[in-house]
Amino acid sequence: MEIDISCPRCGHDDSVQMVPSAYAEGVSSSYGSNFTTGVGFTSSGVVPVVGTTTIERTHTTALAQSLSPAPAQRPVGRPLAIGLLLLVPDLLALFPMTLVILQPDDVGLLPTLFGVAFFLGALALPSAVAFCLAIGRIRFNNRTSRGRCAALAVWSSGVYCHRCGVAFWPLSPAPNIPARQAYAPEHFRWFVWNAGNYVNA
Ligand SMILES: [Zn+2]
Repeated sequence: MEIDISCPRCGHDDSVQMVPSAYAEGVSSSYGSNFTTGVGFTSSGVVPVVGTTTIERTHTTALAQSLSPAPAQRPVGRPLAIGLLLLVPDLLALFPMTLVILQPDDVGLLPTLFGVAFFLGALALPSAVAFCLAIGRIRFNNRTSRGRCAALAVWSSGVYCHRCGVAFWPLSPAPNIPARQAYAPEHFRWFVWNAGNYVNA
């Protein structure tokens, strides 16, 4: 059976392209280096770390962006590192706080314990916020990875017409997606992301 890949809007097939190739044309990579600073934990204590890292930058055109099969994975390393870094004051406060507990003054042990717990808890709050952010990103990344396969199956059979700026499916890729219906790229992407179950992720 011959598949009709002519555009349902203009009726021509000279400007059509499969969505994956239209997308690939709009995505390119470049390499550069970034100056980084941070801290390292060694047996002799906390030491500053300075260096350069090679990074890959991805450039995406507006069309590729609106035809993307899945949202970009969110980086997790930075909030995790910040969370660990923000734990340092808490760790440093542990020793003096232990002394306070071991030598309770006339206030009594229970109020001292309560006060110490409150103080350490308040000190740990910023790192808890950073860890929550990291956990949220990990969940988001897991959710998009899970649905990626189903979304790619729908995405890869789409066709884009450069003359009309619309995307369509020559054959219906899923029960809720009609064949030969022209969609704006964003609407096309909505169907793809919906198939991956991450349209609202
Ligand atoms: Zn067209």
